[in-house]
Order: sequence, then C-alpha cells, then structure tokens
Amino acid sequence: MIKITLPDGSVKEFKIGVTPMDVAINISEGFARNVISADYNLTTIETSTPLTTDGSLVLYTWNDLNGKKAFWHSTSHVMAQVLEEMYSGIKLTLGPAISNGFYYDVDFEDHKITDADFKKIEDRVLEISREKHEFKMRSVTKAEALEAYKDNVYKTELISNLEDGTITFCDHAIFTDLCRGGHIPNTGIIKAMKVMSVAGAYWRGDEKNKQLTRVYGTSFPKQKDLTEYLELLEEAKRRDHRKLGKELELFAFSQKVGQGLPLWLPKGAALRDRLEQFLKKAQKKAGYEQVITPHIGQKELYVTSGHYAKYGADSFQPITTPADGEEFLLKPMNCPHHCEIYNTKPWSYKDLPKRYAEFGTVYRYEQSGELHGLTRVRGFTQDDAHIFCTPEQLDEEFKKVIDLVLYVFSSLGFENFTAQISLRDKENRDKYIGSDENWEKAENAIINAAADKGLNTVVEYGEAAFYGPKLDFMVKDALGRQWQLGTIQVDYNLPERFELTYKGSDNELHRPVMIHRAPFGSMERFIAILLEHTAGNFPLWLMPEQAIILSLSEKYENYAKKVLNLLENHEIRALLDNRNETIGKKIRDAEMQKTPYMLIVGEEEEKNGTISIRRHGQEGKGNISVTIEEFASIVNEEINKTLKVFTV
Ligand SMILES: [Zn+2]
Ligand SMILES: [Zn+2]
Repeated sequence: MIKITLPDGSVKEFKIGVTPMDVAINISEGFARNVISADYNLTTIETSTPLTTDGSLVLYTWNDLNGKKAFWHSTSHVMAQVLEEMYSGIKLTLGPAISNGFYYDVDFEDHKITDADFKKIEDRVLEISREKHEFKMRSVTKAEALEAYKDNVYKTELISNLEDGTITFCDHAIFTDLCRGGHIPNTGIIKAMKVMSVAGAYWRGDEKNKQLTRVYGTSFPKQKDLTEYLELLEEAKRRDHRKLGKELELFAFSQKVGQGLPLWLPKGAALRDRLEQFLKKAQKKAGYEQVITPHIGQKELYVTSGHYAKYGADSFQPITTPADGEEFLLKPMNCPHHCEIYNTKPWSYKDLPKRYAEFGTVYRYEQSGELHGLTRVRGFTQDDAHIFCTPEQLDEEFKKVIDLVLYVFSSLGFENFTAQISLRDKENRDKYIGSDENWEKAENAIINAAADKGLNTVVEYGEAAFYGPKLDFMVKDALGRQWQLGTIQVDYNLPERFELTYKGSDNELHRPVMIHRAPFGSMERFIAILLEHTAGNFPLWLMPEQAIILSLSEKYENYAKKVLNLLENHEIRALLDNRNETIGKKIRDAEMQKTPYMLIVGEEEEKNGTISIRRHGQEGKGNISVTIEEFASIVNEEINKTLKVFTV
C-alpha cells in the first residue's frame, strides 16, 4: 500500500499502482469526470500513470491553470498530427502550452501554410478528437528515439541532450511525438479548436538558426467557451489603448523623437493634468508636500543609491560634459533625489513624517521589442512620493496610504481589485537587508493595515524586495484582465545608503523608515489601462470634453455661442460644432469622440432658452429638453457619484 496526501491535507491509503484517475473516482465519480491532469510530488504526470511511492497528489480540472495547460498541450499533439498529414515531409519541433493556448514550431520545408488552410486544420483536429484517442506515454531508449527521428534534425538535437533512460514518447491514434508528458486522458474532450495565427520563430529562439513557422492555436472543452474567448479578443482589440489614443487624439509617437517616448497631444495632456490635479488635491489634504527635482543627476548619486548597479549597464548610458570626468545619468528613479531633499536639514522625531510628492519623469531603456504603446515606454512619469517616518509611525502611515489608493480607485471606477502582500522568503533570510526586528515591524504594519482596511489580500512569501516588504494592488478591468497598478513599499535600504537621520526623543540620532508609493504607478501606464477599462468613456469628471454643442444650422450660431458661454460659467468643458454639416454627421463624429453629452440647438431651443440633450451611446433613448441650469445640475450629479471629496 502507498499513502497519498491530497491538497486538503487528508491522507488515504491505496494499492501500489493506483492511478490519479482511480484516486479521483475514489473521491467522487462526478469529480473524476472533470479531472484532466495531475501532479505527483510537484511533477506533472498523466492521469493514467501508476503511482508506486508515497506522495502528494493534486488533480486538475479545466478550471485550473494546470488543467488548461494539459488540455492545450494535448491539442498541440493533435494539430501536429494534422499538419503532418496535410503537408508531407515537414519537420515538427516543439509544441508547448502557453497562456490562452499553444503553439507548434514547424519546419515546413517547401510547403507554405496560409490563413486559408486554418479552417481545414481545425475541422480535421476536431474530427480526430471526436474519435476519443487516449494519450499513452511509453519509455524508449536513446537509440530508439534517435532512430525514430533520424530524418528530423531538430528532434535529433533535442534527443541528443536527453539522458538515456529518461526519454519518453507519447502516442495517440497513429501519431507519436517525443514528449515529457502532461496530457489529458483522451482527445474526446477537445470540442472546439482554432488556429489563431502563424508567425516566424527561430529554432530555439536564436537568430543564427533557421527560421521556423510557429502555428498558434487554442482549444476549449465547449464551443461556447471558444466563442466567448474570440469575442473577448475582439473587444480587447476595440479597446486597445494604442488605437483609442489615436482616435481620441490623446497621444502619439514619433520615430524622429524616438521609440517609446510618448508625445502627449493637447487633449491627452489636459486629461493627464486633470488626473494630476485630482491626486495633488487629495495629497495636500493627506499632508504631502510637493517637490520638483531635475531629470538628471550625477552618476555618483545613483552609485550611492544602488540604482547604477541595477540599471547602469542595460539602460541609457551616462551623459558626459565638457568638464573632465563629469558624468550624469537620466534618472531611473526619483527616490535618490528625494533622499537628498530630506538631507537638506536636520530633523527631530517631532517633525516626522515628511511626505514628499512629485510627478517625476524617469527614463529606463527598454528593448525595442518590449515597447508597447503607453504600457512599456522608455520615459514615463510616476505619481511618486516618499514618506520618511519613525518606525513607530509606520502602521499609521501605511493605513493612510491605503486610504489614498482606495480613494483613487473608487474615483476612477476600478471596483474589482486584490492587494498582494509581498513578504520575505521564510527560509532564506540572508538576501534581505535590515534587522529582523525592523522587518517584522514592517511586515506586521502591512498585514495589519490591509486587514484594518478590509482589503481582499493574498500573501506571497519571497516576493518582497531585498530592501523591504510591499503591498501591490492588482485591479481587474472590464474584460476581466488583471493589471498591477499602485504599489506601496517599505524601504530600509536607502535611508542607510543616504545616511538619513532624525533626532529621537532620547536625543540620539536614528534612521527613519522610507515608504515609496505610487497609486497610479505611472501616468502613462495608468491612462493606458484606464482607456482599455473604460473603452475611452472616462468618468465624466475626467473627460477631455464633457459636452459638445451641435447647432442644427448656421442660423443658430449666436444662440449656440451663448450656450457655450453659459456652460463655461458652470465650469462645464464644452466644444461647439458649428460646421456646415448635417446634424446626423455631427452626432456621428461626437459619438466617435465619445463626448458624453451632445447638446442640440435649433429654433425650438433658441425660442425657449433650452438645449436638447443626448447621452453618448444611448441613441435609442431620445433627446430631452432642459435649461442650462438643469443641465449643469445633471452634470454635477453625475460627477459627484464617482468623484467624492477626499477626507482624512
Ligand atoms: Zn505531449
Ligand atoms: Zn521611490
């Protein structure tokens, strides 16, 4: 008999040779029907693998990431079978699962695969799948494996690097592939499959090697799941911030200025400024002081801070000057500058905390292949602040920062988020700087503050920075995608490196603790995420234009201008569309710009001193006629629903 431990901690005895599927059936027949893969002692195995030693078993269904991986990887076998059938003489290489599907890298030799072939491949994959072939692993000797793949240089290379005795093949139907394992029980559960795209990929990712064709695919246990996935992809494309940013004229890139260096257009700059003013106002209430520091600093500054060691080699190189030996760096972080601001004066414990805030632009060199719209750039502005406090104040300060972050999220419509508490590795404590006592204080401060604020948290051990624990906010956007936004980090390192001090009540000098925090993260990334989350329909308080006046004809121009003036008096941001265009065209353009309110003025409106309002995206609802005052209160009411006043 062997002892098998299940994830809930329960231990059961089974006969030697029991399979994961047997164990699943033992738990419940219903559960077993959904089990598609398994791990034993942290190693991926088949659900049919006989278990011969004591160990821990985890059974996976489609709802687990590991279950999905087995499902997708198994589908890659079936797709490889079909590709070989359709294009004779091609050479298969590797076919792993990736996030949202799988790929297979293939040397197509003289064949060419095109979009037109996709449907045929999909149909054939499903046809084979329906035949319910089992995936069966078998061990082979190195000599047998090499013999089987003697015509395939890629597999031969893979096999050569494997140790004899560890090599396995996987068979299903009439197809065999070199494989380590990790499959679903049989092909029958693959009910929907799609070839997504093809792309070039070098063998083993090395440009010196031959370029292969990577065939991307995905598959699902239900047709409905595939349909939903494709709809989600379409929606994500529609919401792509790069596309929306162009359409709404928010930002642009110029090859002449340089890759990864965003140019903010007037509307985008105004939007960004509004976000900054919003945060500045709340920060002022929360006791922050605004500072401004330069975009460059002496190289020595970053050697002291340790950033040079981290970013120096892979980032922008030092700027030299006519003076001998003088070197400056574009700043990769604002913290060193803020430390030096702290150091301009001696402090007493009574002066603390000091909270310095800056919308500070930093520069980091990203590989051009890594650049992506506003989410991966080479220059970006952090909504940065550094809090210098006594260890005793850490608890309270942490809670205050959480309040500010929550205020930001609620004002911008992010309702769905979790907070990840990143703590030290439990085992390996040597890699962290700072005393055990301080770490405990800081970790407890974060845990308590998060609990006190009722946050939905996950704790990750070993995810702390070497200089301190942190709290990261992960938001889910409207498409269910997860993004990391704001972060709060405790730091014992920089106060040490910059020799920051304050005089304690004991008249001795002590080191303050430093908190780095950025609720948005960076303005660029935040606006990108907000664009995709809202599809460009920002909260009304943030919209570049809240309303647009559409005159029915030139006759009403004077009245339209009067309306514009009145709106300005009510501090409503509005534009006037006085073009000699039909009202239909004007409405369509305003809808494209996602302007929240369209205000139509014509004869009737002029006579009654009213406007006809139409809300973006609600064409079916009909227009309502209101006075300017009534409209102003509609706008204010809508704004006050999301944008609350920050209170401390
Ligand atoms: Zn496999
Ligand atoms: Zn910092």
